[in-house]
Amino acid sequence: MAQRPAVLVIAGSDSSGGAGLARDVRTLEAMGADALCALTAVTAQTDARVLGVHPVPAEHVRLQIEAAFAARTIGAVKIGMLAGRETVEAVADALRSAPGVPVVLDPVLRASSGGVLLEDAGCERLRARLLPLTSLLTPNLPEAAWLTGDVPDPDPDAARIIGWAQRLLADGARAVLIKGGHAAGREAADVLVRPGAEPLWLSGPRLAASRRGTGCALASAIAAALAAGAGLPEACRRGRAHVRALLEEAGASAGGPEQPSR
Ligand code: PLP
Repeated sequence: MAQRPAVLVIAGSDSSGGAGLARDVRTLEAMGADALCALTAVTAQTDARVLGVHPVPAEHVRLQIEAAFAARTIGAVKIGMLAGRETVEAVADALRSAPGVPVVLDPVLRASSGGVLLEDAGCERLRARLLPLTSLLTPNLPEAAWLTGDVPDPDPDAARIIGWAQRLLADGARAVLIKGGHAAGREAADVLVRPGAEPLWLSGPRLAASRRGTGCALASAIAAALAAGAGLPEACRRGRAHVRALLEEAGASAGGPEQPSR
């Protein structure tokens, strides 16, 4: 039997179980990929608050990445929470020795509760060192604004969103998927922006459900699809379908409409 594709997840844990590494591993399992893990930080969280962040020493993050590449042929890398500058540097150093492996970077800056998951110095290093190694960057609307030094806009128009994506491409990312979950409107639209191609809008009806960890799930599902050999547009479509199923499940278990999906 052929071996399943392997994805290396570089991420933090969320003690509440909704987001972070636990969500990534469950997503990869559902997508038929094996998860190898490099834990970057141990967080204590509820859905409403980040109580504390305990970073794993950067040197040990690097060692976990090296061990993963020694153990398996890695088909894709998914990066989530990085906590601080030193970890960003360690991840960038470790990934430089793995050229050609697709890297999906979910720029986890804050939890939905507002708690900080990457400090400002780390954010600056992420832009300088990790964007040039990134095959696909998956910011939500506030993250796209912050990463480009702009102010978040609750309902940006298409030109503004594409402008953010173009700046992130200029900073070195090879493709950007800006997620529209935080916007208003009946349609939830993400846009895939690549150099030399028309922006690809992927949209569907906005679901009246909300769930933690949908950003983690999307990036992990896309990484699994890339590791299985899908092209970028198809991988994004499969990732969106996975998140849609998660949100439908959340809506069904809550028994009715809640807040807008993210
Ligand atoms: N906590 C950790 C460890 C995460 O990695 C993430 C997202 O990637 C979050 C929290 C944020 O999830 P949410 O936006 O659902 O709060």
